[in-house]
Amino acid sequence: MKKEEAEKYILAGQITKTVVSKAKKDIKAGQKLLEIALTIEKNIEGAGEGKAKHAFPVNLSINENAAHFTPGTDCELVLKESDVLKVDIGCHIDGFICDTAFTLNFDNSHAKMIEATELALEEGLKIAADKAELGKIGTVIEKTIKEKGFNPIQNLSGHGLGQFEAHASPSIPNIASGNTKQLEEGNAYAFEPFATDGEGYVREGIQSEIFALEKPVLVRNIHARKMLEVIAEEYQTLPFALRWIEKKLKMPEFQRKVAIRELLRARAIRSFPVLHEQPGKIVTQAEKSFILFDGKATVLC
Ligand code: MN
Ligand code: MN
Repeated sequence: MKKEEAEKYILAGQITKTVVSKAKKDIKAGQKLLEIALTIEKNIEGAGEGKAKHAFPVNLSINENAAHFTPGTDCELVLKESDVLKVDIGCHIDGFICDTAFTLNFDNSHAKMIEATELALEEGLKIAADKAELGKIGTVIEKTIKEKGFNPIQNLSGHGLGQFEAHASPSIPNIASGNTKQLEEGNAYAFEPFATDGEGYVREGIQSEIFALEKPVLVRNIHARKMLEVIAEEYQTLPFALRWIEKKLKMPEFQRKVAIRELLRARAIRSFPVLHEQPGKIVTQAEKSFILFDGKATVLC
């Protein structure tokens, strides 16, 4: 990592920090999820003297949903006092990403589970600067969450961050493993423990509101071709929301649906279905990004 790259990571972190503290103040029970998402995204777009861009759509996953939910244009969901809301935010400067998340629960019925993920994240970050082995990070995270009486989600993990790559290798486990690969100087990472009162395993749901470019292939349908052009230009390989495309393309709904279906079939794009625990279970998340640069770990946000 060059010095100017580290500076871009740090700027992305500063912007994210401002957006996060504003979101923590602004989000209230009774608000529509769509309204919450649009406000957060507006605060990211153009921050840092116009340099900040979305690394991915704001994820607002509730209760048993762990990740990958973002409200669509017609989403009528309203946040309740008792909901457990994971707010996952990503911003980038020239492709250098800060990825961060926190959990809100206004009636405090799941405060202990929120505390478990926050503590697990802290314990993980404590050994980050020592270039810990990946398996050891998982061990610390699992132990912390289990001591609080919950299960870590075994098939969700932290990850590396690359330029225009929101999920780069390596995958950083949230459970104990024998992986002796170490964190490396000059790289960026995100740790993101998840805790649950469920079994600790998420499955893909039916709904997908988030997509990303897979490979630019030639498609016959003219609307699909136009959509693919816009995706490649605007979002590169980073995830985008269906509602962003709707706004950008102003294509009638029917054409849009055909185009999306065609792009998925041609494997030009991939979908990120909502990931959920079993119905009635609760999931909490905490996430921070950091760089290992200049011999130390610098937490971005
Ligand atoms: Mn995230
Ligand atoms: Mn992440």
